[in-house]
Amino acid sequence: MKTVYTFGGSADHSDPRQKDKTVTGGKGANLAEMAQIGLPVPPGFTITTEECVDYLAGGSDFSDDLRAAVADALKHVEQTVGKTLGDNGDPLLVSVRSGARVSMPGMMDTVLNLGLNDKTVAGLAATSGDDRFAWDSYRRFIQMYSDVVLGVDHGLFEEALEIAKEDKGFYNDTEMEAEDWQTLVAEYKGIVDQELGHPFPQDVNQQLWGAIAAVFDSWDSDRAKVYRRLNDIPAEWGTAVNVQAMVFGNMGDTSATGVAFTRDPATGEKAYYGEYLINAQGEDVVAGIRTPQYLTKAAREAAGAKPLSMEEAMPAAYSELADVFDLLEKHYRDMQDIEFTVQDGKLWMLQTRSGKRTAKAALKMAVDMVGEGLVEEKEAILRVDPMALDQLLHPTLDPDAKRDVLTTGLPASPGAASGVIVLDADRAEQLAHGGEKVILVRVETSPEDIHGMHAAKGILTARGGMTSHAAVVARGMGRPCVSGASAVSIDMKARTLRIGNRELKEGDTLTLDGSNGQVMAGEVATIEPELAGDFGILMEWADKYRRMRVRTNAETPNDCRMARQFGAEGIGLCRTEHMFFEAGRISAVREMILADSEAGRRDALAKLLPEQRSDFREIFEVMVGLPCTIRLLDPPLHEFLPHGDSEFEELAENVGLSVDYLKRRAGELHEFNPMLGHRGCRLGITYPEIYEMQARAIFEAACEVAKTSGEAPVPEVMIPLVATRRELQILRALVERVAAEVFAEQGTEIEYMVGTMIELPRAALMAGEIAEEARFFSFGTNDLTQTTLGVSRDDSARFLGPYVDKGIFARDPFVSLDLEGVGQLVELAAERGRATRGDIKLGICGEHGGDPASIGFCEKVGLDYVSASPYRVPIARLAAAQASL
Ligand code: ADP
Ligand code: MG
Ligand code: MG
Repeated sequence: MKTVYTFGGSADHSDPRQKDKTVTGGKGANLAEMAQIGLPVPPGFTITTEECVDYLAGGSDFSDDLRAAVADALKHVEQTVGKTLGDNGDPLLVSVRSGARVSMPGMMDTVLNLGLNDKTVAGLAATSGDDRFAWDSYRRFIQMYSDVVLGVDHGLFEEALEIAKEDKGFYNDTEMEAEDWQTLVAEYKGIVDQELGHPFPQDVNQQLWGAIAAVFDSWDSDRAKVYRRLNDIPAEWGTAVNVQAMVFGNMGDTSATGVAFTRDPATGEKAYYGEYLINAQGEDVVAGIRTPQYLTKAAREAAGAKPLSMEEAMPAAYSELADVFDLLEKHYRDMQDIEFTVQDGKLWMLQTRSGKRTAKAALKMAVDMVGEGLVEEKEAILRVDPMALDQLLHPTLDPDAKRDVLTTGLPASPGAASGVIVLDADRAEQLAHGGEKVILVRVETSPEDIHGMHAAKGILTARGGMTSHAAVVARGMGRPCVSGASAVSIDMKARTLRIGNRELKEGDTLTLDGSNGQVMAGEVATIEPELAGDFGILMEWADKYRRMRVRTNAETPNDCRMARQFGAEGIGLCRTEHMFFEAGRISAVREMILADSEAGRRDALAKLLPEQRSDFREIFEVMVGLPCTIRLLDPPLHEFLPHGDSEFEELAENVGLSVDYLKRRAGELHEFNPMLGHRGCRLGITYPEIYEMQARAIFEAACEVAKTSGEAPVPEVMIPLVATRRELQILRALVERVAAEVFAEQGTEIEYMVGTMIELPRAALMAGEIAEEARFFSFGTNDLTQTTLGVSRDDSARFLGPYVDKGIFARDPFVSLDLEGVGQLVELAAERGRATRGDIKLGICGEHGGDPASIGFCEKVGLDYVSASPYRVPIARLAAAQASL
């Protein structure tokens, strides 16, 4: 199997492995594909991801085979360009670029202008006829290589450059002359020597292999690990390395570098979108050193900006670029994110990939592209990441609310957020952990800030354009972001910031509107999301193709209404204990728990009955005609106990018992391991009167609603934490007896079912027997995960992070179902349940019911429905559709 693939020039691109991202990475695969369809791509070669994995596993060593394959591939590049790496007269320069299977913005570092040294720089100057360009390239190379490969702090180089410019009285880098760069190069080399104790490597082969090693090593950097964890990217993927002949955007005013999207990645509008810079190289556009210029005349005019757009300044290269945009969209049938360089008027393509987009843009593009005949409905459904819908389902700023606008920056990532100002990523993470809503405010962000950006509700930067790090990452994460708000100045020492003439400090509240770039003081009122339009169309398509039903986990009428708006087709889990906590009721609940006799409990339960009945009535009214799974009381009783003296005193007064007595009873109820203690159906077995009251409340409410609305709900009474058939047999008889009583009293009958939750391994194993008593199973995968893994949900935070980092778990098993282990139990229980009762209804009601990967599994096992929290219902609808395509 090949370890190195060449592209460009006369390279043969026919091996399908070369266009397989798992082998050559996203960048490498697309470079080969662009070269194959005849686009101008500088020649180069890709070292496979497999080599990265081998290298990292094998003690960071390169095999002789790999060295030979690279030498061959380099010859291809040299022959195509007609220059040789390390040749003093006419040197080839290359870039060394990382490229994993999926793009990981900012994670991996690219080295440009490799191949320059004290001798080749003269050759470059002579052949280009441009001294300034040659020395500019050399100083860039030393800085980048020293930073990325040799680990020298880049701040030292930036400082030296600042001082050099100051000495000369220059403001822009472009004012520096050849001699100025040459002097700086000498200083840079001095810095390297001083920091490392040895000189900057002059041997071009040493440079090349050093850079390749650095790319491989960067796969295991802390930054990359954080990003991988946040995005569920397995460590085994590795990254490819791309070595590519340099083209130069820094060769004067007929040269430029830029980034572009074939459609607007924020709104989805069909308009070219991007930025470019004349006489610049590489990351200059995104680094915020100079303010980039617009690509199109229309965008420049809309923004009221002066510097000419590329369309105006370089019409020939622009029109060639526009043709490439169209060609790439037709070829990939998707919006592309493109990097290009113009060298002396000639366009070169350096990268293309399917562009990241906001949820709103993803929807619009998916729907538009079906209209344009570019993709089919099914593909459009598959195009939209279900989790991204989350961005659209949350409130936006009320257009009529008063806004105290401090300044307006660039609308880098849409959505609105309010929170307290925090000036660094670590603190943002800490405060967010404590439940605080934070807005991260930075001059600009870098990959070191990712954890803070993730923790923040919104991001504000003083510098950087629409394609800056902050903008790209925020859009990917679905965080609102305002970038390039130049009126913001931060004083890190005092931990304050000034916006225009207003002084603010860390901890003050700020609101961001990422859709128009506004930065506002204080909190601004929000409105509910728009669920029609493109969203409605895509959801309609999803509903057409999905097999599984989607229900919701909800117990308040408000949540039920919200869930129905989002398309819920019933309730998958109504947790009755939540109703016990409501104000005014907890006292009766406590009285019931602390009573020392059945009679005492019945007295207290009689007070709760009308309350529960009215809860259920309201819910049934919203869900009329739809199935409603109601779980009888589940948590350990001690969760309802009074805390602290004042609560005991209040209760004592209410129920007419002494504080001492109540405290002693509470002590008796203490459990060492309550999650495995007196809870679930064990409560129903020991205190049948509790379940009797609940069953009565359910059936009375259902009969009432049937009478008033003419259509009955379909209650599905669910017994939790069943381990044995006998438990369910006893409790089912209890529920059926109460149902019969209520129906006789009311003179009416409604349809209902009794079933159970499968949430203990024994229940899963014994599902065949249990199904004799159960009309339905609902997989309670939260507890099933807890009991199968023997991992406490509430105490696992401390070790789950390291477990995921070390690859022991691919993902947090409470977020995404452990398909191999817990999944087996689900599959087996479904099989055994069906063998006993062919028409048994099967669903899932754990957190996993809203997780797309777990939903895919539910489809495979053939469950009838998934149930998710209200905001996740649309996500589940889309994921269920994707799973059945
Ligand atoms: P990233 O993965 O961070 O986008 P890239 O490998 O795409 O990193 O490199 C960043 C930038 O460096 C590119 O956008 C391009 O401007 C520049 N670059 C990379 N390779 C070359 C090359 N061979 N010639 C000119 N510029 C290059
Ligand atoms: Mg980069
Ligand atoms: Mg790139």
